[in-house]
Amino acid sequence: MSAGSSRALGAIMALLLVFAIGSIVALAVLVATLAEDEEQTSATSCAVTAVTTDDDQERAPNIPNGWAPLVEEAAKTAGLPVSVVAAQLKQESNWDAGAGSSAGAQGIAQFMPATWATYGNGGEVTDPDDAIPAYGRYMAALKKDVEPLADGDADQLVRLTLAAYNAGPGAVQQYKGVPPYEETENYVRTILDLGQSEFSANCEVPTGAQEWDGDLGDGEWTVPLPGGKFTSGYGRRNVPGLPAWAQEHVGVDIATPGAGSGSGGPVIAPTALRITGFNNTDGCVIAKENGDDPDFGFAFCHLNTYSVKKGDTLKRGDVIGTEGNKAGLGAVSTHLHFEIYKPDAPDVVYPYEGFNIDPEPILKQKGAWPK
Ligand SMILES: [Zn+2]
Repeated sequence: MSAGSSRALGAIMALLLVFAIGSIVALAVLVATLAEDEEQTSATSCAVTAVTTDDDQERAPNIPNGWAPLVEEAAKTAGLPVSVVAAQLKQESNWDAGAGSSAGAQGIAQFMPATWATYGNGGEVTDPDDAIPAYGRYMAALKKDVEPLADGDADQLVRLTLAAYNAGPGAVQQYKGVPPYEETENYVRTILDLGQSEFSANCEVPTGAQEWDGDLGDGEWTVPLPGGKFTSGYGRRNVPGLPAWAQEHVGVDIATPGAGSGSGGPVIAPTALRITGFNNTDGCVIAKENGDDPDFGFAFCHLNTYSVKKGDTLKRGDVIGTEGNKAGLGAVSTHLHFEIYKPDAPDVVYPYEGFNIDPEPILKQKGAWPK
């Protein structure tokens, strides 16, 4: 065999090898993609998995038949979140404009004749163009009735308005809150869950959540995951397979776009911290505020590596560890799960102890909300 032909053979072999490796890589990518799809279909849209692109998400997804503008307008009239009004309409009629009930309720919003006479403005109850705006006017009236009882609490006002819809404003006034009827309590919970899981763009809690209302001090914080994007908010969610306590998402999720399931970016101290412990099951570094702000507790979870040890004191921006996918309940996509606890929480605190508060308003006020 000449030197020339053996070089040619070598080139062909090398080429074949490249193809073989290429196919294996392609196959691996395919398998990984299929596995990812599987993961996403097995959970609701509220799973903590995907990084959503906020930009091209609609404000209220999953409203059918081009009715989104009508629902948004009705929500504006009612002074309620779009996700809540959408969830109510789905719950009432499953978006069936011709729906009826044995009790005499009619149309997409299931108006009773007397209520329709007051709020229908002479329209046709089975025409969504009339019924959806009328629904907004009706909810606005109910909200006004119960407003004084909410005492300025936006979350409570939505709950009371939903309760007034289900049990009547008189019952809400009588109990000065959501009436203790099982049906009404279930209705409020169902609508808020549905609003979050199906009609919010990023699994947002429709009403906002438990907020820290104490003194925030004047220290300025930084985003705990530089370059990360906000992917999931605080509050109730509905993820099949998670235990009941984990259905309360007790923190916010921030993820490095494209990090997949490997190690992501550095997780840093948003403010001065004292490291108090670890929860290794979920890859959490637990800390206390160590500066001028209230003595908040913090947890930085799913980290693949820690850069700190117990007793360390950190200044704003010091690295805590590496964003990762470590979780006791099974693999998660790479992200930082970030919690804040009330100042009176113990040094080493766990979610089920009930000290969590919504980090979002605090991060926002501190100028540390991911872009
Ligand atoms: Zn989380």
